[in-house]
Amino acid sequence: MKNCVFCAIADGSAPARIVYSDDDVVAFLDIRPIRPGHTLVIPREHHADLGELPAELGAKMFAAAQRIGTAMRRAPIDADGANLIINDGRAAFQTVFHSHIHVVPRRHGDRINLAKGMLLRRDSAADTTAERLRVALGAAVEGR
Ligand code: AMP
Ligand code: ZN
Repeated sequence: MKNCVFCAIADGSAPARIVYSDDDVVAFLDIRPIRPGHTLVIPREHHADLGELPAELGAKMFAAAQRIGTAMRRAPIDADGANLIINDGRAAFQTVFHSHIHVVPRRHGDRINLAKGMLLRRDSAADTTAERLRVALGAAVEGR
C-alpha cells in the first residue's frame, strides 16, 4: 500500500534491520526499541489491523514471532524470555496501521513495565515537553 512504511520495508524500498524473512512475513528491529532486540513481525501483504488480517496469515506471523522469541534466548542479547504484543487499533496504541506483532526480549529482573514503556515512547504532551526544553535551553544560553 502506498505511504505505508511497513509495506516499504517489506518490498525493500525503505531501510530496516531485517532479522528474518520468508514468502509471507518479514521481521525487523523496531526503530524505537523498548529493549535492544525489540523486533516487529509483519505480513508482506498490507492489512491494517486484526479485523482485516486473514487468520492463516496471522498464524504465519505468530509462527515467526514464536521462532524469534525462542531464538532471542539463544542469541547473545541478554534475553531469558520475550513478550509478544499486538497493539490493535488506535485505542490500544497502534500507530502503524499495517498489522504487526512486537517481540520484546526480556531478562530476569529487568523491571520493564510494558504498558508504561509503550506510553513513555510516545509523549502525549510533546508540545509541552518541547517548550519546557526550549525554556531550559534558552535559560542556559542567556545564563539565567
Ligand atoms: P505500534 O504502536 O504497535 O503501531 O508500533 C509501531 C512500532 O513501529 C513502534 O514501536 C515504532 O517504533 C515502530 N516503527 C515505526 N516506523 C518504523 C521503521 N521505519 N522501522 C522500524 N520500526 C518502526
Ligand atoms: Zn502496509
